[in-house]
Amino acid sequence: MSAAWRNWSGTVRAHPARVVAVADVSDIVTAVGRAARDGMPVRAVGSGHSFTDAAATDGVLLDLRSWTGIERVDGTEVTVRSGTTLHDLNAALATHDLAMTNLGDIDAQTISGAISTGTHGTGARLGGLATQVAGLELVLADGSWVSCSAYERPELFDAARIGLGAYGVVTRVRVRCERAFGLHAIETPQPLDDVLLGLDEIVAANDHVEFYWFPRTRTVSLKTNNRVPPGSTLRPLSPVRRWVDDDLLTNRAFDLACRGVRRMPRLAPTLTRAASRLLTRREYSDVSHRVFTTPRSVRFVEMEYAVPRAALTTLVADLVDLVEESKWPIAFPVEVRVAAADDVWLSTAYGQQTGYVAVHQYAGMPFTDYFRAFELLAREVGGRPHWGKLHGLGSDDLAASYPRFADAQRVRAEVDPEGRWLNRYTRRVFGLADSAAAS
Ligand SMILES: Cc1cc2nc3c(=O)[nH]c(=O)nc-3n(C[C@H](O)[C@H](O)[C@H](O)COP(=O)(O)OP(=O)(O)OC[C@H]3O[C@@H](n4cnc5c(N)ncnc54)[C@H](O)[C@@H]3O)c2cc1C
Repeated sequence: MSAAWRNWSGTVRAHPARVVAVADVSDIVTAVGRAARDGMPVRAVGSGHSFTDAAATDGVLLDLRSWTGIERVDGTEVTVRSGTTLHDLNAALATHDLAMTNLGDIDAQTISGAISTGTHGTGARLGGLATQVAGLELVLADGSWVSCSAYERPELFDAARIGLGAYGVVTRVRVRCERAFGLHAIETPQPLDDVLLGLDEIVAANDHVEFYWFPRTRTVSLKTNNRVPPGSTLRPLSPVRRWVDDDLLTNRAFDLACRGVRRMPRLAPTLTRAASRLLTRREYSDVSHRVFTTPRSVRFVEMEYAVPRAALTTLVADLVDLVEESKWPIAFPVEVRVAAADDVWLSTAYGQQTGYVAVHQYAGMPFTDYFRAFELLAREVGGRPHWGKLHGLGSDDLAASYPRFADAQRVRAEVDPEGRWLNRYTRRVFGLADSAAAS
């Protein structure tokens, strides 16, 4: 048995029977064939940044860290090897004067791991990362190597773009990019009630909007990012300010404070109130990926629900009331974002303009009651859970939430009749008993 595997938050551990580092598609085909002969399940892992056990396996773990880089640039479309991190992809794209249209908060994920769980950023006119995918190449359970897109095996494409690793090993991703662009960022402390009242206007007036609410305060940090015209002079934060804000305060000092709160949970409200008072206005412009993403070293756990856009402010207001009535020691802010409707079968934004609410807790602090209560609120307004973040739903709930869920289940069964790619998480969400799969 190989060494234990852990996810980023340290909450999921697995003991893969075999770890195979792959450097080529033929390595993947060979590893899958050998696993099939041995009757073992297989999982490709990315950077392990999912909070769920989506990537965990006790079978064969495929390590794609050596399968990286851009292979082909065709105008603004780029073919990238699946083990490439978003960090490296952004840097490589910049050398071609290209950029991703939208990104989430961090860039540590691999491109295949990020799309597989429906990773998203924010922006009412923009979809998640999977909507930027024009085509995929996969190794299927029978060892065949196939391409899929809107024109070639379209059902596999619709399912596998956010496929939870259950359709095959993604080997290459064709990403629709854009000419590199700059973003103008404004971050301001704002009264919670004003932001909730004016949210529709704020969302309509800005390319990207998100806010963080500090529990047990009436303050949010509102962040808007807007594209600047091509050729504009960018005014990035100075390296010192960036380090102080994004590393020292957001990571190191915050981590220290959270450690204190973990020892003395009754200080949690003091921490969130102090953090909200320390908020200051920041305004700068920079190349897009340096605005979208920031480093995150403070370990936490997270649950995020997507809800119909029209229900977003109600959900936030209900959560604020819930937290105020509770005694939960909550050290972390709540994050609110938006996205456009899309057509990816298992996308949290499938078929509807979407709002996202994410609750977090510092690693090692109690979170179950808080997250469960939030989940109930989110489910009441039709919430769909992020596939990479904690949730308690099974296949019946999910089938009722996703109009194409039955199709996703059918295509999964067609391309993986023996359950080669299944693990505990995908069995739960697809509603498959242990005996239905390779063990
Ligand atoms: C600090 C932090 C910040 C985050 N910020 C955001 C955010 O802003 N927005 C958001 O939506 N999410 C966010 N997430 C969640 C994160 O983006 C997702 O969980 C994402 O899936 C992690 O990517 P990964 O490369 O670590 O994949 P992993 O967690 O390693 O794997 C995720 C899934 O992809 C599968 N997979 C990986 N590679 C392949 C492959 N080649 N072929 C087939 N299947 C594969 C795995 O088996 C697994 O099922 C954040 C997580 C953390 C820890």
